Amino acid sequence: MKLSLVVPCYNEAGNVTAFLDAVLSAFNGCGYDYEIVFVDDGSKDATLHNLKKLYNAQKCPIKVISFSRNFGKESAIYAGMEHAEGDYISLIDADLQQRPEIVLDMVKLLDEDPECDVIAAYQDRRGEGKVLSFFKKRFYSIINHLSDVNLHADASDFRTFRRSVRDSLLELAEYHRFSKGLFAWVGYETRFIPYTACERHSGKTKWSFRKLMNYAIEGIIGFSTKPLRYSIYIGTLTAVAAVLYLLWVIIEKLIWGIDIPGYATIIVLILLLGSIQLFCIGIIGEYVGRTFEQSKNRPVYIAKAILKPEDE
Ligand code: UDP
Ligand code: MG
Repeated sequence: MKLSLVVPCYNEAGNVTAFLDAVLSAFNGCGYDYEIVFVDDGSKDATLHNLKKLYNAQKCPIKVISFSRNFGKESAIYAGMEHAEGDYISLIDADLQQRPEIVLDMVKLLDEDPECDVIAAYQDRRGEGKVLSFFKKRFYSIINHLSDVNLHADASDFRTFRRSVRDSLLELAEYHRFSKGLFAWVGYETRFIPYTACERHSGKTKWSFRKLMNYAIEGIIGFSTKPLRYSIYIGTLTAVAAVLYLLWVIIEKLIWGIDIPGYATIIVLILLLGSIQLFCIGIIGEYVGRTFEQSKNRPVYIAKAILKPEDE
């Protein structure tokens, strides 16, 4: 098997059939074997029903993994990679925003250059609003500054890579998965190519602003312990400021000998120090929480059913 397409699907009932048709027409006559690994991420609509229909028809080799609940796209990618048998693995969304034709180009690039291990697509033009792209830019500059890994600002999960990369990714069995970071962490020779995302075929995006914020925090906490160090810096700074202020108060008292009513100062200081403490405890809490999660050693996903052709 040359290529496995790993397709995470969450409430994509209106897309999966069109997706398969798009793949069939794009790969028609490509001259090599490929399979599609659909992962139904606990969809609440008819996605699984439609996937079963596609599975039964087997217009090309198709596997379907169905989760017991919604575990998130990252878990779906993990499950799909585990069951992928191709020499190359391609991650692609089910909503046809990423054209299957581009996968053909990626495969060609990998064929031509044995030194290259990952072809990653990045969006050359983003169709999103100014506010969102402002926050996304800030996020990438913060995470690149904080962590040891270096992320490409516009890179998506739309990638094609060799089996060795997939093996390395699967070895990282962390519960909180942040694909872009994991890709950067495992290394390998990566080449970025531009692509233009199309409109969603049907349905709407699962990403709200709140989810994106959580995703950003996941990325930062998952790939850096610098926030912990910074909380020490903040603590040191406020300690130094407190000592200086103390000196000032003593000198003031010695020189002028007057009590200045300091009600406002006290309130402001209590609030300021209290919030700094809460902020730092919050940061520590994030790390403790993750340690707790990971120590439970829970699986990244639970598959309710795995449909794959018998002869394997
Ligand atoms: N997805 C998933 N689980 C989720 C959310 C999304 O498997 O909890 C899948 C979704 O079905 C799609 C892909 O991840 O195939 C990308 O999602 P979406 O199109 O909503 O994201 P966007 O393209 O807007 O970034
Ligand atoms: Mg999409």
